Amino acid sequence: MLLQVLCCLTLSACVCAVLQEGFCKSFKDWEGISINPAIQDDAAVFYTRLIDKINEELAPTPHKLAVKQTLTGVLSQQLIGTDPRVCAHSKSSPEEFHSLQLDVKNKATLTASLQAFIQGEVLSGGNAYKCSSQTQ
Ligand SMILES: [Zn+2]
Repeated sequence: MLLQVLCCLTLSACVCAVLQEGFCKSFKDWEGISINPAIQDDAAVFYTRLIDKINEELAPTPHKLAVKQTLTGVLSQQLIGTDPRVCAHSKSSPEEFHSLQLDVKNKATLTASLQAFIQGEVLSGGNAYKCSSQTQ
């Protein structure tokens, strides 16, 4: 029994190493250079390239919308007037995204990180924003 488990672990480690090696050789960055697993690189850059590559490969297939349907979200920044007597307008600019950069320091849960991510911010001083009706 122990021997079987060890064989399975060894076999799966070998299979993983072969798959990883094949993936690292075949997956190219934007400059056409294969991944070097010995070099630490930016995970966000890798993920963006991976999503682009999957989209490229799926484009001519019936599954061309798979990434959009499964790994894409919509993020919307909203500008809302702070004083409804001055401005009751709001402006929204939705954008698709594949990943979010969340603050995890001192956040116990993903929900806490997401709540911090969507915190509002008052634009004032140099960041102040006036809607088109206020500038006219
Ligand atoms: Zn307004």
